[in-house]
Formats: sequence, C-alpha cells, structure tokens
Amino acid sequence: MSSFDVVIIGSGPGGYVAAIRCAQLGFKTAIIEKYAALGGTCLNVGCIPSKALLASSHHYSDIAHFAEHGIEVSGEIKVNLEKMIARKQAVVDQTVGGVKFLMDKNKITVFEGLGSFIDATHIAIAKADGTSETVEAKNIIIATGSKPSNLPFIKLDKERIITSTEALKLPEVPKHLVIIGGGVIGIELGQVYLRLGAQVSVVEYLDRIIPGMDASLSKELTKVLKKQGMKFYVSHKVKSVERNGDIVAVQAENTKGETITLEGNYALVSVGRRPYTDGLNADKAGVKISDRGMVEVNDHLQTNVPNIYAIGDVVRGAMLAHKAEEEGTMVAEILAGQKPHIDYNLIPGVVYTWPEVAAVGQTEEQLKAAGIEYKAGSFPFKALGRARAGGDLDGFVKILADAKTDEVLGVHMIGARCADLIAEAVTAMEFKASAEDISRISHAHPTFAEAMKEAALAATDNRALHV
Ligand code: FAD
Repeated sequence: MSSFDVVIIGSGPGGYVAAIRCAQLGFKTAIIEKYAALGGTCLNVGCIPSKALLASSHHYSDIAHFAEHGIEVSGEIKVNLEKMIARKQAVVDQTVGGVKFLMDKNKITVFEGLGSFIDATHIAIAKADGTSETVEAKNIIIATGSKPSNLPFIKLDKERIITSTEALKLPEVPKHLVIIGGGVIGIELGQVYLRLGAQVSVVEYLDRIIPGMDASLSKELTKVLKKQGMKFYVSHKVKSVERNGDIVAVQAENTKGETITLEGNYALVSVGRRPYTDGLNADKAGVKISDRGMVEVNDHLQTNVPNIYAIGDVVRGAMLAHKAEEEGTMVAEILAGQKPHIDYNLIPGVVYTWPEVAAVGQTEEQLKAAGIEYKAGSFPFKALGRARAGGDLDGFVKILADAKTDEVLGVHMIGARCADLIAEAVTAMEFKASAEDISRISHAHPTFAEAMKEAALAATDNRALHV
C-alpha cells in the first residue's frame, strides 16, 4: 500500500491547486480523480468551456457592428456550431493537459478512480477496470466539488431538458431556449445561444436576475440583455416542465397567481449547484456532512476529524473556482505550519456576459441592512474616450465608501472588460484603500480603467471630471 503525507480527493481548481502547493511545500502528495480528465467542473464543464463558447459567439455577434466600423462583408457569414463546439473541446483538452503537466512537474501521484473513505487515514480507489487500490494518508483534503441542482418535479432527460453540462455541447442552435433560473450560469449560456440566433426566455423565481449582486447591476444587465433580445419572466415560479416530442413546455406562475406557458425546444435548468459527496463514504471516516450536503468545516477548513480538511464547492461559501483555489492554497500552508488567511468579503464575483459584470465587497442592499452609512460614486462608461473609440458604451462603475472614513466597502461594475477591471478594486480593498486613494492614482488614458478613478472621484465630494 502506498502512503502519502497528503491525499486530495478531487482534481478541480481546489484540489489540483492544493496538490501543487502541498508539493511545493515538500509534502509527498497524491490526488485522486474519478474521471480520466483532470481539472474538475471548472476546466471540463464550467468556467473554461463556457468562456470558450462566449468568446466564439461574441465574435459572431460582432458582425452586427462591422458596417459602422466600415467593414464590408460580401457573402454569407454563418455559424457552424459543430466546429464551434469542437474548438471549445480543444481548448478544454489543452487546458486539462496543462493540469496533467503540472502534476507531473510537481511529482504528484495521480490516481484515476472513485475515492471512498475506509477510515480517517485510508482511502479505497475504485478504478474503471473494476480493480481497487488502497492508499494511506496522514492528511486528507476533500475537494469533491458540486453538481447541478434540480427542482424535485423536473425530470432531466439531458436531451431537451438539460443542465449546463449538456448546454455546452448542443447539437443545434435552439429555436427557443427556455432558461429556468436567472443566475450567472443561466445568463451566460443564454447569451451564447442568443448571439447564435436562438430566442431566449429566462424564468426567475426572485424579482431580478443575478440576485446575489448589487441591484443596480442586475437592473443594467437586464436592460442591456433586453435590448439584445433576451426575454425575462422574473417573480415567476416554475410549476411544471413537460416534454412532448421535441417541444418542452415550461409552466410558471407569477405572484398574482397568473400562469404562463413557454414552449421551447430546449429547457435549461440552472437553479444552482449542490455540494457533491456521493460515493465518498465520509461517514466511514466520521466526517460530518450538513443537512444541505456540505462538508462541515471550521475557519481553518478543517472538518470535525482533525487530519481531514475540505475546500471549494463542497464547503460553505461562494461556488467559484478562485475561491476554491485560495482554499486549496490555505490548507496546504496550514499543514505546513503557516498561518494563511482568506478574506471572503474580497472574493470577486464575475458574470462573463458582454457587457461583463463584476463586483467585490458589500452591495448597497447589504450596507443598508447592516445600517452602515456610506456614500456612492458612479461613472458611466459612455463618458470615456476608450469606450467611445471601441463602441462599448454600456455600463458604469460604482464605488461605495464609508461615509466617515472614506474606506472603500464595495465596488460594482458592468461594462466592457469589467472581469479584469475588478482586480484593481480587489487590490485596493485588500490594502484598505479609501476612495480618495484610488482617485489620486494615475490611470492610463484612454482605458476602461479610468472609470475606476472617475467613480472614486465621484465618491469623494462628487469630483468626477468627465461628466
Ligand atoms: P470541482 O471543480 O467540481 O471538482 C471536483 C472534482 O472532484 C471533480 O473532477 C469530480 O469528478 C471529483 N470527484 C468528486 N468525487 C470524487 C471522488 N469520490 N473520488 C474522486 N474524485 C471525485 N467559477 C468561476 O470562478 N468562474 C467561472 O467563470 C465559472 N463558470 C462556470 C460555468 C459553469 C457552466 C459552471 C457549471 C460552473 C462555473 N464556475 C465558475 C464554478 C466552478 O466551476 C466551480 O466553483 C469550481 O469548479 C469548484 O472547484 P472545486 O475544486 O471545488 O470542485
């Protein structure tokens, strides 16, 4: 039986980053992954493939702006979805290959098979060929991630009534895609197919899409997506989803009890994700799983069994790849006797639509609920030279700062390149910057980043220069 200092179960961004950091710190490390491809949800059926399709469909939708830029195209431009999806898969395969390279480079032993606890220091690995192997570990990190959730009355056939996984490899552009759930994943995939020519309808139970983010962002995103042709049915509770041949009927009821029926040829169920521990046999090690299926951990990501830790989507907190990565690093460093720290308030959230949406820190709703006095400064992208040059005029940056100390408490933005721009806000907040600090930093001209400076000026005595 082989034995290791650390064994990690699951090779998503939490697990593989934990493995690399453990190896860097001198631990004899192994990782167990039940699928042949490393990288977990994020690399295989999450972040990377969705961004590949968003990029391809964005190129296609840019055709609408060719004429205004003086680009004349003769002949038909059309989508070859099969090729687009093959390209996406090539990007995934290459990225997954990169993780394998990193495992080899760092001398991490990779086991392919389902990992199940035998006890708190032994794990059985059930392999695809029916054989099994047992490994011993001083420390174990559970990084088994999450799977799509469903509503109890919906029967997913994965053909017409699908999850995000199937939506990443559809055989055709839907005529009408009905999306159940207006969260990040549904909206991103909705925009992919909207751009490719589908009619897209989003049914959301709450009164707005991307409900976890600042209300101003969901309002602006709704406005822009409506302009692009997406239809929204917010405050609608889905009551039934029935397939009849190639038609899927989604019935939903609004708050007044009125019923609508949307007939699509695909229904994408994107109602969140659930922590995944199936087959792990956590009870054999005595590890506590909460009623909601999460592995319970303390502030050091340690379970109730001292040598077993858990990270990423399978524990509390935002289900995001970079959160999982930070946690993977943190556990490795704790095991090495270091004292790392994660500020969960400063984990940014991003929606990769175009315009992109990004945020960090507290929303206005949260500050109001907590009774914290704050000031807000906003700046619209349309007032920026760079936005005008490129024609990306939608959106704004909003900075929320403490009314007395001027410390930045939250930054919320929607517009071109916000997924990258938010890094400045995270850095500033990590260093406890005031709005005035940001307003006094030189930002290159012309850039979208100037909106950060202008919003900071707006938040400090309404001093924005270009509005
Ligand atoms: P996972 O990535 O889920 O990996 C867990 C791994 O564990 C899997 O490979 C699984 O096979 C393996 N496993 C499970 N049980 C066992 C077992 N018993 N034995 C062996 N192996 C096991 N996040 C972002 O930050 N940015 C994005 O743009 C983004 N886009 C997304 C788009 C989509 C469509 C989806 C679905 C998700 C997206 N996410 C995004 C979320 C992101 O994918 C997850 O937050 C992230 O993958 C979580 O990482 P993890 O390591 O905790 O788990």
